[in-house]
Amino acid sequence: MQTIKVNQYQGKASKRFHVMSKPIGAACNIDCTYCYYLSKQDLLEYKQGCSPKMPFDELEAYIKQYIQQQNTPEIIFTWQGGEPTMLGLDYFREIVRLQAKYAPTDVTISNDLQTNGILLNDTWCQFLAKHNFLVGLSIDGPEMYHNAYRKNRSGKGTFRQVMRAVELLHHYKVNFATLTCINNLTSKNPLEIYRFLRDVVRSPQIQFIPIAEPKTFRETAPQNWDQHEIPFLGSEQAKPGTRNSVVTSWSVSSEDWGTFLCSVFDEWIVQDIGKVYVQYFEASVETWMGRTNPLCTLGSLCGKGLAMEPNGDVFTCDHYVYPEYKIGNIHEKPLDQMALSPKQQAFGFAKSKTLTKQCQSCDYKFACFGECPKNRFVRSYEGELGHNYLCQGWHKFFKHIDPYMCQIVTAMGYQVRAKQQR
Ligand code: SF4
Ligand code: SF4
Repeated sequence: MQTIKVNQYQGKASKRFHVMSKPIGAACNIDCTYCYYLSKQDLLEYKQGCSPKMPFDELEAYIKQYIQQQNTPEIIFTWQGGEPTMLGLDYFREIVRLQAKYAPTDVTISNDLQTNGILLNDTWCQFLAKHNFLVGLSIDGPEMYHNAYRKNRSGKGTFRQVMRAVELLHHYKVNFATLTCINNLTSKNPLEIYRFLRDVVRSPQIQFIPIAEPKTFRETAPQNWDQHEIPFLGSEQAKPGTRNSVVTSWSVSSEDWGTFLCSVFDEWIVQDIGKVYVQYFEASVETWMGRTNPLCTLGSLCGKGLAMEPNGDVFTCDHYVYPEYKIGNIHEKPLDQMALSPKQQAFGFAKSKTLTKQCQSCDYKFACFGECPKNRFVRSYEGELGHNYLCQGWHKFFKHIDPYMCQIVTAMGYQVRAKQQR
């Protein structure tokens, strides 16, 4: 008889889920070209009188639910937007106060804050350090790359303000990571971007985000694309900047994404391994060791992170905030019911269940799992729908790092993931 092991905490089955909360919705103080969130102001219900800021009584109800409905030693709150610092520091003081009010003594509460850094000042940074927030700071590289797309509302680049935030974060010893968008420009200059983040920003954690957006991303939810428009992987239409391209001009091309990662990896493996934290490389080591990939985008399951708007509407994922993917509202349904609902589970399992044949027979399926479903808007080489736009890049990268990963894992004293588990 097979025994199913259920993780326990305090004598009961452990229960954990994660919500990316957006108490200020899509409101932002700058206007980045490729922001996938600003357009939510039109798509969702803000125009119909919904407050763009979650009121304090609703914030309290959320914090209480989020803590009381989980059974786990650590509860992680994630605050995102839009730009969450526009809520003001007093709003965050209230968040911390409410968390202390409802947290059991044996549960650790952690906070992540995603920001463009514009409003960070001494007082903010003192607060973030004191309460041990992990800050995710968006910075796209040296001035000319950052300012190409990260502009304020009058069209001026925000590089200098972000660099000021970097200095403050270091000065006050705030725990932070950098998030760098790899787009049509940054992808062509991998070493310049990497060296800048390593040597000038001195980023404690480097995270790269591939920008891959169909032109219809503002109004059309993933998987609802017009099938007649879907191009083949590697075709001209599946490249940014070409005639009839299905992606925005600022998207990274699939090939460039692979070249970018390989170039950065080649410098990292020679000079920086063990010294510089690059999220994709660290996650790959874990995967080659046979562990579960810590990144949802490269793991086998979706659905572990919900997204919540300021009116309490909850969606399957931050990248699926479209009416079709709403799973409820916290004022009508408990969060845990939504997180564990059949709809959310079906969304989670679909990531593996809907892999194309090309993915299923891929040597690197174990490390990629067809990547994020929001990027599955091309046809495979055989013409099957639902293949990942970034496939060529990912394949190139995984093939390139495979021998190094095997060496690293062996040198660390672990067994490399067996071939049959790949
Ligand atoms: S849709 Fe993409 S971002 Fe969302 S959980 Fe799945 S892999 Fe992660
Ligand atoms: S590399 Fe390409 S074929 Fe392989 S799993 Fe990823 S998306 Fe699928």
